[in-house]
Amino acid sequence: MLPDHSPVPACPACLCEQRHPWHRKNGYDVVECERCGFRYVSELPSDEFLRAHYRSSYCQSDGTFQPKGGLLRRLKYRAFAVWFKRAILRHRESAADAVRILELGCGQGDLLKAFSGDASVRVTGMDYAAGPIGHLRERGFDAHLGGLDEAPVGPESLDGIVMLHVLEHVRDPGAVIAHAARLLKRGGLLYVVCPCSGHIKARIAGDRWKYLGPPDHLWYFTPRSMRTMAARMGFDVLRSSNLYHRAHVTLVAKKL
Ligand SMILES: [Zn+2]
Repeated sequence: MLPDHSPVPACPACLCEQRHPWHRKNGYDVVECERCGFRYVSELPSDEFLRAHYRSSYCQSDGTFQPKGGLLRRLKYRAFAVWFKRAILRHRESAADAVRILELGCGQGDLLKAFSGDASVRVTGMDYAAGPIGHLRERGFDAHLGGLDEAPVGPESLDGIVMLHVLEHVRDPGAVIAHAARLLKRGGLLYVVCPCSGHIKARIAGDRWKYLGPPDHLWYFTPRSMRTMAARMGFDVLRSSNLYHRAHVTLVAKKL
């Protein structure tokens, strides 16, 4: 038993209690659900531990924050912003004045910056990392320290929620997905990217897989377990796949 840790009694994706060992890493046992194949840590660090763990993320050794730049990075986020706005407009049921988007785990704010020239979109960023949030707030972005349940947005007020490499870090991914469902309007879109433990690269690497690393990564999704969790929390899953060269699972789901 690790200090200040609590056991995970059942699979967070499908609630099945039957599981068998998958890997052991950094003192954590990672188990595999016998029903849906979800891989997850059997012992969970406390919320206080995780908040302290991520508070200084993105900062240099002297504690200062310097955002990463680069044209390719900006183009990648701009392309995603254009695609995500189009997808939202295609699916949303009521035409409102502005498209309202929230990014959980906004980091240095690449997505907030990608949308900043578009007056028809309002984006809110949330993150546990103090450096990037301070940097964004000084520049007038709507960015806040904290998790999804601390976001200054009302129920059924959002058209889209984005989580890029976030869900594998949070303490309760099912609760985060369920809260996302409460914040989205009917027809609103959830977009999630996580490491995919069912990818051929993960299978070949075994316990040397680069994404296998509690307590940073607590949950190891596959397209199937991601689909199972999102459907259970009230989403129509439009896509849950890992058809890319990188070992990631991508979820696109619509709030029912
Ligand atoms: Zn399961």
